[in-house]
Amino acid sequence: MKFATKAIHAGQEADPTTGAVMTPIYQTSTYQQASPGEHKGYEYSRGTNPTRKALEDCLAALENGRFGLAFASGMAATDTVLRLLSPGDEVITGDDLYGGSYRIFTKVYAQYGIKFVFVNTSDPKEVEKAVTKQTKLIWVETPTNPTLKLADISAIGNIAKAHAILYVVDNTFASPYLQNPLDLGADIVMHSATKYLNGHSDVVMGALVLNDESLYKKLWFYYNAVGGTPGPQDAFLALRGLKTLHVRMKAHCENARLIAAFLKDHPKVETIYWPGFSDHPGHELAKKQMRDFGGMISIVLKDADLQETFRIASRFKVFTLAESLGGVESLINHPASMTHGSIPKETREKVGVVDNLLRLSVGIEDVEDLIDDLKAALA
Ligand SMILES: *Cc1c(COP(=O)(O)O)cnc(C)c1O
Repeated sequence: MKFATKAIHAGQEADPTTGAVMTPIYQTSTYQQASPGEHKGYEYSRGTNPTRKALEDCLAALENGRFGLAFASGMAATDTVLRLLSPGDEVITGDDLYGGSYRIFTKVYAQYGIKFVFVNTSDPKEVEKAVTKQTKLIWVETPTNPTLKLADISAIGNIAKAHAILYVVDNTFASPYLQNPLDLGADIVMHSATKYLNGHSDVVMGALVLNDESLYKKLWFYYNAVGGTPGPQDAFLALRGLKTLHVRMKAHCENARLIAAFLKDHPKVETIYWPGFSDHPGHELAKKQMRDFGGMISIVLKDADLQETFRIASRFKVFTLAESLGGVESLINHPASMTHGSIPKETREKVGVVDNLLRLSVGIEDVEDLIDDLKAALA
């Protein structure tokens, strides 16, 4: 099946008892057993729930994977992967990460004796150089947040394979509509389903998709043992969101293309990050491993200090100043004080997260209204 058909149908069948076309919200914690241990595959909803199962199967189909796992947040999904590690293990990851990933690495798992090595993942040689006998995991985000650097998923996959290292790609910014890391050599795809997958800014959720059955069983063990799993209402909403993923992504990409063109030569814009420009360092790679350039754009404002940046960020009428991304509505975010506030100033400035950087999550409103809003706020 093709992507759009999978987005609407995968994992879902009419309800066998009533014929309900939409997967019901199975609002139940437990399931009747005919005799002890004799049940229909569902025992207790921390581990298994039919609404969540439909969502997981749909997610797996969209990422061309065999197994999907849904979590109560993207961070819960990340946490479950990190539980595969033991003290003394090393992780190679990007120097330009989502702030919450940086925080769980350095503030939660580092204290258990796991070492995190941060490198520029846009250069696979840097990843290779950082490999030691203790390296057990490579964790890559592409495009990165917020400066939209690209990492070559298959080149890093070859390094991971050569050294038998587990390889995870955080595919939140691209969504499976734009890129499928499992096809390019990743072992696990991680998502903050809060963003494009759900797409309506009304659910916090995470996901993992993978192909290897024994790895799936290990992850399922932590998923159930630790219990960061989502309830059926949220699973239902995310499943509904997925049905329009392809339509939304197309519109996000189209609006972003027009907005990027508007901002490129704007006198108030010093630098613009969007992989669709031929002078973006990841442009050729984006053309190779992504189907389009996505709905995220970051800009550095010309001659703006923190105060002026705050003033501009607060002036929007259609864009909403808020954390998060990937919803149908346009959002504007000041990474240095909002999403990346947990990263020390020197660390974030090294990778371009400066005080006068703003990140746009371009929504699917009428693009003329969005451009008018930008014009007015930047005037
Ligand atoms: C939001 C986000 C996360 C964390 O997901 P939550 O659903 O907020 O827990 C991880 N990675 C990226 C790239 C994100 O944007």
